[in-house]
Amino acid sequence: MYECLRHGPTEEERCPKCGAVATVLLEEVAFRVERKEKGIWRYWSMLPSLPVRRSLGEGLTPLTSVDGVRVKNERFNPTGSYADRASALISSYVASRGWERVSSLYEPDFSRSLVRYLEGAEVEVIAPDPLALEAEDLAVLTSRARLVTRSQAPSVDYASPWSVEGLKTIALEICEQRARESFIVAPSKSGLLALSLLKGLRDLERAGAECPYQVVGASLRGRDPPLLEGLPVRVEKVGEEEVYETLTKLSAKGFRVKPLAAIGYAVASSLGDAIAVVTVAVRPALRPGRSSVKRLVLSALEGGRKTAYEIWKERPVFTLRAVYKAARELEERGEICYDIVRKGEREVKMYRLC
Ligand SMILES: [Zn+2]
Repeated sequence: MYECLRHGPTEEERCPKCGAVATVLLEEVAFRVERKEKGIWRYWSMLPSLPVRRSLGEGLTPLTSVDGVRVKNERFNPTGSYADRASALISSYVASRGWERVSSLYEPDFSRSLVRYLEGAEVEVIAPDPLALEAEDLAVLTSRARLVTRSQAPSVDYASPWSVEGLKTIALEICEQRARESFIVAPSKSGLLALSLLKGLRDLERAGAECPYQVVGASLRGRDPPLLEGLPVRVEKVGEEEVYETLTKLSAKGFRVKPLAAIGYAVASSLGDAIAVVTVAVRPALRPGRSSVKRLVLSALEGGRKTAYEIWKERPVFTLRAVYKAARELEERGEICYDIVRKGEREVKMYRLC
């Protein structure tokens, strides 16, 4: 059973009245935090019940300050974006249904994330327009998935009730982290993230949790996020000049964000009392003064993902301990990312460039 946040319960994944993405209607919710569960499944009592749960350790991203603006930095997810939360839910759904072959409409960041989460399944990524493909997605999409223009396989798209359930965990975390701000700002093109946060806050309210945040959608002037029409979500707009000013200012300070994230950042900055849900990376350029062991780690990762041990073994010019320490420091500063990968009985941390 699903529910359109405007029109109420429906049998379809899309509302037959307005065509918007519906959300999963949960019969029972309780805001319990299960600390032993991996990733977003720490909130399983707030999520759809699925027999198989998958996670690569997404979520629990830090609330930090970036040049005076509070940011929930989603960069710290396994593939570097909040799409990982949606992928955790969708890959669990796929595994629970026993599907070995699926298709998914191309969506920047999300497709790359989903393919990683669906390792072992056959994934066809439907990309009608080759020119819309982003360079950073290509390595994964060409090596671990199949790029197609149409597919007969069951589809799992980003704009789906299952994504909403994954993305809403950002609101659950902000509630658990007891942030004092009043507004949660979601960069909004279609508005899926803002809609998901709204769903999360509604479920929290139903569960009796006191987290009275207000969702604000941040969009470019002249654009209306279609999914937010008619929802109780305030939409704040930013002009092109302000986007460029924000990008320039952040870049000069060594922060790297996408234009859409810059819009969210700018709105949170002018609104005050707000948290922007964005991904912010620290520029990974080889800055002068960087220790040579860190340079070694970064250059080793240019050849693909590796554990700290593998980096050390490849070029054992420093102690293993120094390599571990350098990798951890680069990771903490968001300069490199990692995936948790199972190797036999153990889970190991594979570092990679973000
Ligand atoms: Zn509707």
